[in-house]
Amino acid sequence: MKEIILAKCGEIVLKGLNRRHFESMLLRQTRGALKRYGEFDVTTKQSTVYIEPLEEVADMDEVVDKISRIFGFVKISRAVVADKNIEDMKAQAAAHIAPRLAGYKTFKVESKRSDKRFPMTSLEISREVGGAILSACPHLRVDVHNPDIIVHAEVREAAAYIHAGQIDAAGGMPYGSAGKGVLLLSGGIDSPVAAHMIAKRGVQIVPLHFFSPPYTGERAKMKVIKLAQILTDFCPGMRLRVVHFTEIQKAILENCREELFTVIMRRFMMRVAYAVMKSTKAECLITGESLGQVASQTLQAIGITDATVPAVTLRPCIGMDKDEIVKISRKIGTFETSIEPYEDCCTVFTPKHPKTRPFIDEIEREEAKLDIDVLVQRATENIEIIDL
Ligand code: ATP
Ligand code: MG
Repeated sequence: MKEIILAKCGEIVLKGLNRRHFESMLLRQTRGALKRYGEFDVTTKQSTVYIEPLEEVADMDEVVDKISRIFGFVKISRAVVADKNIEDMKAQAAAHIAPRLAGYKTFKVESKRSDKRFPMTSLEISREVGGAILSACPHLRVDVHNPDIIVHAEVREAAAYIHAGQIDAAGGMPYGSAGKGVLLLSGGIDSPVAAHMIAKRGVQIVPLHFFSPPYTGERAKMKVIKLAQILTDFCPGMRLRVVHFTEIQKAILENCREELFTVIMRRFMMRVAYAVMKSTKAECLITGESLGQVASQTLQAIGITDATVPAVTLRPCIGMDKDEIVKISRKIGTFETSIEPYEDCCTVFTPKHPKTRPFIDEIEREEAKLDIDVLVQRATENIEIIDL
């Protein structure tokens, strides 16, 4: 059996004049994602991308799975390729489409002929292919008005394609089509989910991790690298940036009031992230914060963190409950790694009684004791870049 994959484009079809640009990004990304699976011909027509293997593919399921994780596609179907004659179309439908209809009671065939030289009308094609499927599946009935499943037969330039049933794809917009953002990536559950949600809307992700040796160890760092590696599945080409944060944390610890430690530390994270945003030509920051989850995520604390730098900060988990975040985390495959028990720089120096309603003037008074610019500059200069 010869198979071809049809991937249906989502929102980009609404993009009017820019549609070509989005489409070519999506084609490029699809070709890139398929490189390690063999040679494919990837073309687009009428908001569908056709992916045709040009050689024997070891595992077509794996290829479909990979495509289902490319942002920009909403549905995927696997079509059987038939020669452009009705006998072969019937034979392929009976042999390879009929078995996929076992769980349905009624069906109909819808046909399309983009090659108008084909000697039968669409209606005739549907009738013939439908007949072949009925002979192969006596349990089925034809229902043209309200079928459980529709079988599609398409006669195109090179061949005829027959398919039935679709699987859901990732949705969203092509990766990178909406610009670039710096993600504050901890080893926790929330920030990888935030990465997925924003990458899905087309933002290329630059992950940034704050690391506090010797208080956080190599294994904590390995865990974040592993998380970032999982994220590369939908954020291709990503590289992890690691900031050495110990000097800043010690300076805060030695000079500032203990109950304000976390908020002041988070403001430093924002400053370093902002410097990285500028140097990588990114246009926003992204965090995994969720309203009220911890003391540093009250409305007041988030407001004070937000006021640190003049950047748009996206917090896609802000209105989500933990179990909603966990659900996505399982789906994208980061959960098991996120719950590995290694410490984060945020937890090493957590104050006993963090202030949940800090005021900006008391924060600024404490920060005035520090040489903010020098601390941020030193941390930014020594960022380690890790290929994933
Ligand atoms: P996560 O939110 O990822 O599950 P967490 O809940 O332990 O981890 P919080 O203390 O809630 O993390 O931090 C809120 C957000 O701050 C994180 O989602 C992340 O965006 C950022 N953040 C926290 N710690 C770090 C770190 N070590 N490096 C980079 N970003 C961090
Ligand atoms: Mg969190």
